[in-house]
Amino acid sequence: MKVESLEKFRELEKEIVNCKKCPLYLTRKNAVPGEGDLRSPIMFIGEAPGRNEDIEGRPFVGAAGRLLDSLLESIGLRREKVYITNIVKCRPPNNRDPRPEEIKACSPYLDRQIAYIKPKLIVTLGRHSTKYLLEKNRFAFRSILKIHGRIYSIKVGKSVIKLIPTLHPAAALYNPKLLKILKEDFNKIKDEIERISRGKEKVGLEKFL
Ligand code: URA
Ligand code: SF4
Repeated sequence: MKVESLEKFRELEKEIVNCKKCPLYLTRKNAVPGEGDLRSPIMFIGEAPGRNEDIEGRPFVGAAGRLLDSLLESIGLRREKVYITNIVKCRPPNNRDPRPEEIKACSPYLDRQIAYIKPKLIVTLGRHSTKYLLEKNRFAFRSILKIHGRIYSIKVGKSVIKLIPTLHPAAALYNPKLLKILKEDFNKIKDEIERISRGKEKVGLEKFL
């Protein structure tokens, strides 16, 4: 990312931190813009901050985050080497599902983050971010359990980006069956990263593996 873009990205983060575009600002402690390597070719997109994330202002720092860290580690990635964010940047009260109007108000921030980072691969964690990006690209979305692990090509601006939807780590925390699916999907993610890095050494993916 160019210096100029980096400055704009920092401004975008400030906008998010001060945002009042939907009622979730009333109950949040901290908005959570996202964090990680802005030059990373890989972006992970969750649902919304939970209790710990709201307190710390950082994504995936609670139990689901620890599971995400270990899944990343299992395929040779570290969280510092990827970019991690959510489709909704403020915590919904009692961790309820984000409402359609909250997703509508907040998603332009995600669009702008994707446009700056220009990842080669996006991994959506759970139903909400998956539904948003698929429907935006005219794919039908019904059930995350039906389509997890598939590889889609989506267009953001002029860039073509691979999208692999998987389950939300929080759903797999106490469910061995879902955990198994999540682990299998992470192996597919690893294969796809290897495929991308083999095709395009310039991308610099090989250093992650
Ligand atoms: N769950 C999410 O979807 N995002 C977080 O940041 C934490 C938990
Ligand atoms: Fe703004 Fe998004 Fe937070 Fe709503 S959830 S206040 S749109 S940053």
